[in-house]
Amino acid sequence: VDKLHIVGGGMAGSEAAWQAARMGVSVVLHEMRPHVETFAHQTGHLAEMVCSNSFRSDDDEQNAVGLLHWEMRAADGLIMKKADKHRIPAGGALAVDRNPFAQSVTEALKAMPNVEVSYGEITELPEDGHWIIATGPLTSGHLANALQAETGKEALAFFDAIAPIIYSDSIDMSKAWMQSRYDKGETEAERTAYLNCPMDRAQYEAFIDALLAAEKTEFKEGETAGYFDGCLPIEVMAERGRETLRFGPMKPVGLTNAHQPDVKPYAVVQLRRDNALGTLFNIVGFQTKMKYGAQTEVLRTIPGLEDARFARLGGIHRNTFLNSPILLDNQMRLKSKPHIRFAGQITGVEGYVESAAMGLLAGRFAAAELLGMPLALPPRKTAMGALIAHITGGADAKTFQPMNVNFGLFPPVDGLKAGRKGRKDRYKAYTDRAKTLWTEWLNQGALNAA
Ligand code: FAD
Repeated sequence: VDKLHIVGGGMAGSEAAWQAARMGVSVVLHEMRPHVETFAHQTGHLAEMVCSNSFRSDDDEQNAVGLLHWEMRAADGLIMKKADKHRIPAGGALAVDRNPFAQSVTEALKAMPNVEVSYGEITELPEDGHWIIATGPLTSGHLANALQAETGKEALAFFDAIAPIIYSDSIDMSKAWMQSRYDKGETEAERTAYLNCPMDRAQYEAFIDALLAAEKTEFKEGETAGYFDGCLPIEVMAERGRETLRFGPMKPVGLTNAHQPDVKPYAVVQLRRDNALGTLFNIVGFQTKMKYGAQTEVLRTIPGLEDARFARLGGIHRNTFLNSPILLDNQMRLKSKPHIRFAGQITGVEGYVESAAMGLLAGRFAAAELLGMPLALPPRKTAMGALIAHITGGADAKTFQPMNVNFGLFPPVDGLKAGRKGRKDRYKAYTDRAKTLWTEWLNQGALNAA
């Protein structure tokens, strides 16, 4: 059997190497650090946490990321194993002692007889062999250029500009209404893709004041260069002039308030359907660097969004990622060069946990392929299945931005109460269902025996 080459020994690459190796495949893990550095990494360890030391909520009954922890633990995931070993107290969150954690991931991989860690930068796309590229948000410039030559300029981004995403069942439809601007759209799906929230003059002025006063996150050094073309944060637009937003993303033209057809709104906040299921909507043009607390406070002043629940908040970050819905097949292979798989944050997931999770799947898929034993996709109703289905097809390629795991990505459970009141029962039903299906998926075939 050929060797599996993995580029990038971060969260995803380390997990992929572990999973493939324990299935019996020989792995070469290529990591450029410490020879080539990034602006965020500080050490030469594999699986370095570059910022926060938290893997977020560990609640596997009420939280989608906690469920992802559960699924990874059930799959003997290396990142979770070492996170649990180096856990430090942090309430319901899984926080870890970052250096011993990264060190122990590194040692565990080096101790595997069929894993070789090779230190050096990979600068070109490999022409043959079996490869996983997991070079993350700070993929080196040479490799990014080589990738862009393959994918085209439009399909590889160097930063993300994320507008907040809201659960559609938390939007107050007695104030918001469904309509596309100038009623454009050929199909029913296109005509029902937009929700609108109206503002009168006083509401708009108060909103601008709140935006200007809100606390913002500063860019780190080395993070900014040339980011903003065409996607200014809303607070920067507001700083340029109080009317800028009203002539930009909040323009009130081509729309009639279904609840008050005779009253012309002074400004309109538009939301666009974010996934095929219609459970998530993003706020159009509302990328922002407001701090998370400030974001929820300011955005809940928008009529119709008073009780909004956020599947993810907005942000702008240095982030190299592919337009996966176009470029990758459902097992994360590059359609134009299927001997190359991608994993981790470069596939358009966001965060340590999600990246490790996509590494876990890529490692298993690649090993199964090398061993000539096909592996089915994980069911969409598991956290793993929901994430991979989103990035490889469920998300809209035209507006694709990185995604955290959240229950909006899961097919709904029938017969449960919608809205805030039914939330606890609903989330428990999602997680119960996922655990059963994930266990079944893990038990398929002989592949998971090791
Ligand atoms: P990484 O963990 O970054 O690993 C990629 C690896 O590939 C690196 O080790 C890199 O050195 C290597 N590499 C790159 N190019 C090459 C090459 N050409 N050849 C060989 N090796 C290469 N997530 C959170 O959950 N919480 C946070 O607080 C958080 N803060 C962040 C702050 C910053 C500034 C950044 C940039 C990201 C942050 N993230 C955070 C995101 C988090 O870093 C990623 O989700 C996660 O690390 C991605 O895992 P990965 O394996 O895809 O990439």
